[in-house]
Amino acid sequence: MESQQSHNHNQLHVIFLPFPSPGHMIPMIDTARLFAKHRVNVTIIATHANASTFQKTIDNDFNSGYSIKTKLIRFPSAQLGLPDGVENLKDGTNSEILGKISHGISMLQDPIEGLFQDLQPDCVVTDMMYAWTAEAAAKLGVPRIHYYSSSYFSNCAYHFIMKYRPHDNLVSDTHKFTIPGFPHTIQMTPLQLPDWLREKNPATAYFEPMFKSEEISYGTLYNSFHELESDYEKLSKTTIGIKSWSVGPVSAWANKDDEKKANRGQIEELGKESAELLNWLNSKQNESVLYVSFGSLAMLAHAQLVEIAHGLENSGHNFIWVVRKNNRDEGENSFLQDFEKRMKESNKGYIIWNWAPQLLILDHPATGGIVTHCGWNSILESLNSGLPMITWPMFAEQFYNEKLLVDVLKIGVPVGAKENKSWNSISVEAVVKREEIVKAVKILMGSGQESKEMRIRAKKLGDAAKRSIEEGGDSYNNLIQLIDELKSLKKSKALGEKAD
Ligand code: UDP
Repeated sequence: MESQQSHNHNQLHVIFLPFPSPGHMIPMIDTARLFAKHRVNVTIIATHANASTFQKTIDNDFNSGYSIKTKLIRFPSAQLGLPDGVENLKDGTNSEILGKISHGISMLQDPIEGLFQDLQPDCVVTDMMYAWTAEAAAKLGVPRIHYYSSSYFSNCAYHFIMKYRPHDNLVSDTHKFTIPGFPHTIQMTPLQLPDWLREKNPATAYFEPMFKSEEISYGTLYNSFHELESDYEKLSKTTIGIKSWSVGPVSAWANKDDEKKANRGQIEELGKESAELLNWLNSKQNESVLYVSFGSLAMLAHAQLVEIAHGLENSGHNFIWVVRKNNRDEGENSFLQDFEKRMKESNKGYIIWNWAPQLLILDHPATGGIVTHCGWNSILESLNSGLPMITWPMFAEQFYNEKLLVDVLKIGVPVGAKENKSWNSISVEAVVKREEIVKAVKILMGSGQESKEMRIRAKKLGDAAKRSIEEGGDSYNNLIQLIDELKSLKKSKALGEKAD
């Protein structure tokens, strides 16, 4: 058989352009790998430090015979006065650094457009955050596929709330409105919307074009699956009128063995720490451990960390808690270190600093639930493991995702988060108290009827997720159909050029 690596002229060539934050990059890299596994010639464009988080996996795929490679571009660190390797939103630990990183990302537009021209792909799949790529693709005469890294539900909510602005005439930010146009009655408060949507501010001028760019793209790719949110898939396709494909859960599809699960999304090997963690999990009863993670970006106030620590301890349940080090004052470090020591002694809790092998933890039989900030990737990964959730949304579209989990799918216990704040603005006012945390943990991890029913529903969805990525499943078929469609477009374009 001919090696896939020596790609030929007739092979479909697709460029993937991920946005540098883990929640955007991880699913896009998995999706790019799935395209390559279905005999597409794939090029991923990334800067050096970002590429180093996934290059090993890409090399493995390449060495297994798939036509996939990374095209590196230089991040303008020196020009911006940033240290080497600071190229990802998660490195934006204060607003000055974050501002520079964001500026650096916008400076990449010209070099990336240049690469599009050089590489002459047949299609570009670009993150939702790169609105400008819709026009860049049009200039090249190839389809741009908008990669939306969250739920259909949330994209539909954005669409209808932007269109009808149901929150505009309320007397206060804590009064409820109903999302217009939805098949379910979903109520929210203006405070749960991102600030740029609540009222116009400088960020509005960034986000609105993002949604507009979707409308002029060829279609939208979702890391979702049909049985999870079919009503909203339909709403998006028919009422809103955007062509789309669900091809998820891509993490489960692309990472079928444990080694890849441990390595995903970070540079260092997890070897020793993973082994210690697995030993700890192995010592616990099935479904007895709660996994607590707020994703890759969220920054929590010290007062909030204290409430979480006490809430988890007071709940009496086993837990794993991922805590991001934030170089704040000594007081915080010593509080957390004392807490970690106490948890080691009681053997009730396990602290992971900075980055957890999330897929490994979620897949372990001892894990029985998750506290999640409602980042879409974490939701899908938990669902794939059949786990119910405690929902604790913080920023962006996460409050919509909470509604999907709690009101529509009925697999989530809300902790009672009230306010949507930018992920890097640490909110001291909106602290969720330990009593509320204990209450939610007891409902989810206890043996009551509510928990049992949620568990059954989550498992059913987990089974549906697995079926959807098997040969003949919905996501599987969607991916094949999309690739076939892109191949026919390539063919007709070539015929058109010949005729000219
Ligand atoms: N993640 C991980 N380990 C961590 C934190 C995050 O593997 O300690 C992964 C997680 O599995 C998910 C992604 O990073 O794939 C986070 O994306 P999500 O949409 O959940 O949240 P975000 O980080 O974008 O807020």
